[in-house]
Amino acid sequence: MDCKEAQSLVMPYILNVFDTVEYRGDGRTFGELTDHSLAGFLDHLEHCPKCRDELEIYYVVYVGLRQLEVEDGIVDMEGNLAAALESSRRWAHYVTVRKVALYVAMTLFFYVTALVAALQLRMWFG
Ligand SMILES: [Zn+2]
Repeated sequence: MDCKEAQSLVMPYILNVFDTVEYRGDGRTFGELTDHSLAGFLDHLEHCPKCRDELEIYYVVYVGLRQLEVEDGIVDMEGNLAAALESSRRWAHYVTVRKVALYVAMTLFFYVTALVAALQLRMWFG
């Protein structure tokens, strides 16, 4: 993922994590932010200070604006963003694990089916 693509996901990402801090992997997509692009987005942020800064700036501005609407107190903005990134990373990891697990299951299923078929053929013709 390049900077242009990552930066196009900054706002969708913030909108996604803002209310709950948890990444909402409930099938809702915000712009181009999907489970698929999330992992690439997070990877890119790890290696690109420029985009991380951009995310932080947008986040602080957005949170700041929202803060004006509610009266009480100061929100730990950096803490919230860190928590959001942490939960997103867990989600991206979960998606990857699920994908690998599905692949393993399908592969196993294929071999078991092939084995059963081979045994069946041996019973018929062996
Ligand atoms: Zn970048």
